[in-house]
Amino acid sequence: MISLQNITKTYAMGEVAVHALRGVSLTIEPGEFVAIMGPSGSGKSTLLHILGLLDVPDEGSYRLLGHEVAHLSDNNLAALRNSTIGFVFQHFNLLARTSAAENAVLPMIYSPDGKRKNMDKARKLLTEIGLGDRLEHHPNELSGGQQQRVAIARALIHDPRIIMADEPTGNLDSASADEIIEILNDLNRRGITVVMVTHESDVAAHARRTIRMRDGVIQSDTLNGALSATGAVKPGAPAPAGARPTVTQSDPVIAARSGYLLSEIPHDFKQAWRALMANKVRTALSMLGIMIGVTAVIAMLAIGTGARQSIEAQLASMGSNLLILRSGARHTGGVALEAGAVTRFTPQDIIDIRAAVPSIKRIGGIVNGRGQAVYGNKNWNTRIGGVEPVYAQMRASEPTAGRFFTDDEVNKRARVAVLGQTLVRELFGDANPLGEYIKINKVNFLVIGILPEKGATSWNDQDNMILIPLTTAMYRLLGKDYLDTVDIEIVLAEAIPSAQEDIKALITRTHRLPPSQTGSFEIRNMAEMQAMLTETSRTMAFLLASIAAVSLLVGGIGIMNIMLVSVTERTREIGIRKAVGARRRDILAQFLTEALVVSITGGAIGILLGWLISMLVSALAGWPVAVTASSIILAVGFSAVIGIIFGLWPAQKASRLNPIEALRYE
Ligand code: ADP
Ligand code: MG
Repeated sequence: MISLQNITKTYAMGEVAVHALRGVSLTIEPGEFVAIMGPSGSGKSTLLHILGLLDVPDEGSYRLLGHEVAHLSDNNLAALRNSTIGFVFQHFNLLARTSAAENAVLPMIYSPDGKRKNMDKARKLLTEIGLGDRLEHHPNELSGGQQQRVAIARALIHDPRIIMADEPTGNLDSASADEIIEILNDLNRRGITVVMVTHESDVAAHARRTIRMRDGVIQSDTLNGALSATGAVKPGAPAPAGARPTVTQSDPVIAARSGYLLSEIPHDFKQAWRALMANKVRTALSMLGIMIGVTAVIAMLAIGTGARQSIEAQLASMGSNLLILRSGARHTGGVALEAGAVTRFTPQDIIDIRAAVPSIKRIGGIVNGRGQAVYGNKNWNTRIGGVEPVYAQMRASEPTAGRFFTDDEVNKRARVAVLGQTLVRELFGDANPLGEYIKINKVNFLVIGILPEKGATSWNDQDNMILIPLTTAMYRLLGKDYLDTVDIEIVLAEAIPSAQEDIKALITRTHRLPPSQTGSFEIRNMAEMQAMLTETSRTMAFLLASIAAVSLLVGGIGIMNIMLVSVTERTREIGIRKAVGARRRDILAQFLTEALVVSITGGAIGILLGWLISMLVSALAGWPVAVTASSIILAVGFSAVIGIIFGLWPAQKASRLNPIEALRYE
């Protein structure tokens, strides 16, 4: 079963080399109970660690169950250790903050054949060993003897062929020690090979063979009692598996698992959560960076998106392919134009432009003013727009109730009005305004229609508006003989630039403007405005992304820092896991999971905070905000990626630890 040939192991202690083993040869048959004795420092533990595949010899050959150990990969070694060897240590080496049952079942999580973890078996083993009433106790709630029994249950969970125990009674009182020895004896009677290191001869007396070591070599190898001296001890009940003489590489016992087992995921999450909860303040602090980053991203994206949506809505309500002709660009290049240099437009200009530019679909003049609207005892200060009937289609303002005024009413300077939603609300409340008369600047108007809702921002309520016929506004209400703006809708988007040029040329000609005064009017292209806005929002998005990147980077570094601390603190835990068969990738996955839990939890809190801040801004500033699904997905994705990237190095560091060095770590 076990065959050692000339095994040596040397430790380098700075300048001096410590020869812990100087050529050990040894054979152990299935079913034996071997005690390894010797003074402190004679190499007992080193030998046991090599036997248990926790450490590798420098020279010599070690065959275990027919496998030359030196030929096995790290993963194969982990698998072999997991399935055939159960370890019992002097210092128990149980996972803290983990129940007895969870400790006992630990090797199953790393089981190569993908056995699901079997809590019932762990409970059964613990009960058999006398811990039936301590299943949910944590190690710090158990006595030394009880802890060692949990360790034995853990060693037995996989029905190992060999139990290796390094001074299992060294930290126990004599009563507990007797119990542990009795358990080991019993296991040996059931056919399990037991190799036990001890320096107490009364403990060794229970074994059937005693190997004495001194200074790294075997001094004597004797059988106890009246047994035959060949070294081959007839086992009480040989383990059936022990009968198999040779084992091939395809043996499931060493077949390393190829992938990450799904059954590990809940375990890893539970462990990660436990580890993080054990240090709540530290965990919270390490989450802070990623939390602030995500909060900023969510809030700014929400506010930015909201702002853009509201501007876009305003632009959309202006119609498409729209040119707006305005008199009164009073400043050109920062220089104020002289008085009278403002070009005024009249209805005659509309007639001229329409006649000269064939690509015009619709054209309409507008005058603007303010006034006091009164109904009953209520009054409201509002914007007054004098417009033509084409306005309804050009500015997406078809009434939701009632009708718009007609060309006939414009010609007759009729006193009819179409009200915006704000006015309806303020003057009429729930009453129907259609057919009622209101006074605008003391002139009576008949309400004939209601405008659709256009939306309000904190700086501009587009629904606080009354539309009346253009001529009525000019000559009856506002006393203007000129137009403020002219809306011009072009048939096709492609025709806009040439139409713009034509109109400019025409106005320069008809108003006889000298070249110095071409700045006295302007033609705004709404399509251009939209393009400009898109460009601005792209720049904004880029800025936001940079801020997000920086804060997430800082958050990531925080996580890396905390993970490195965590790996150092839990070196022993990593050693325990490796001793029971965890492979590198299992440890890697465990620590990555932990980093992920930190980063995603931080991200989730960040999303919540960002959302709250958005709502607050929305309530205070009156902006519409939009927390979109895509920004949430983005934030979660980013946190996860940050967790993986910055958790990788610490996790790798953990996974590369040598099991025995990790176990020795103080
Ligand atoms: P035992 O278990 O018999 O007391 P060990 O096998 O633990 O002895 O140690 C044998 C010798 O090897 C001792 O002299 C010890 O100091 C040395 N040794 C063990 N482990 C290390 C190590 N990791 N680094 C350096 N020296 C070591
Ligand atoms: Mg020792």
